Amino acid sequence: MITRACISINNSCNLNCAYCHFHTPGKAEFLADGYMDIYKILDNIKSHIDKYSIKVFKLGFVGNGEPLLDYEALKGYIEHISDYLSDGRIAAYTITNGTLITEEMLGFFKVHKVNVGFSIDGIPEIHNKWRCGTHNKVMNAIELYHSVNSCYPSMNCTVCKDTLDRVDDTIAFFEPFGSRITFSRMIGNGGVSLNEFHNFISKAQEKLNVRTGGYDCTMYGGMCGAGINNIFYANGNVYLCGNCVDLPVIANSAVLLDNIDPDLPLFDRKQCYREIQQL
Ligand code: SF4
Ligand code: SF4
Repeated sequence: MITRACISINNSCNLNCAYCHFHTPGKAEFLADGYMDIYKILDNIKSHIDKYSIKVFKLGFVGNGEPLLDYEALKGYIEHISDYLSDGRIAAYTITNGTLITEEMLGFFKVHKVNVGFSIDGIPEIHNKWRCGTHNKVMNAIELYHSVNSCYPSMNCTVCKDTLDRVDDTIAFFEPFGSRITFSRMIGNGGVSLNEFHNFISKAQEKLNVRTGGYDCTMYGGMCGAGINNIFYANGNVYLCGNCVDLPVIANSAVLLDNIDPDLPLFDRKQCYREIQQL
């Protein structure tokens, strides 16, 4: 049964990070801005929660772009599910590149219990190389978060070859925050192998609160959860995950969650389903 979903509320970003796999020529053709009624999706999710008495449905406003570019729209979506957020039946989150966030936005997310994660790739030398020289801006945003919430936010760090050259420095960078860190594996040029990534995660776990998972995603150190309980909405369609937008769509975004059944063949879930399709 589906208990987790991500919604890509836009396909645009104000950055152009060197490793961004959403905006490569290969993916771009699949990311046309098709109409998607996000209120309808949210209504379907609420009905699904009610029908199956789901205790906590995990909902990410994350996808192929920077969600805060469309903050006014995002506000409307969050207000639409505010009763489910306040009583915990929906646990919502968003992830930002940290360049647009304001105190007002942080206050709004706090009131509605929406978790805000920040993408930051550790030390400035590595972050600035891959993420458009934005380290200072993101650090300021993280401090702003701290002043509003009295704690540091969860953070997302992409692990590349440069990270493996500076493992101790990267871990030392995140240690003082005391918040949960999600590491993801860079693929393509500058990327790291699954083995290298797992070795890094093991070392990081000795000192940091690292998000890993069971059936989630190999990119984050877990196993591939494609087709189990998680779906991804973008461009008016439903996909297996955010990385699978170039695989066949599994449903139209207006379809009831009950009628979404990817029915994948058995495969080794230590591998990425999408990568297996391309072998
Ligand atoms: S901030 Fe995220 S979506 Fe935007 S270019 Fe960088 S990696 Fe891509
Ligand atoms: S198909 Fe690949 S990218 Fe998608 S959830 Fe599975 S491991 Fe992650």
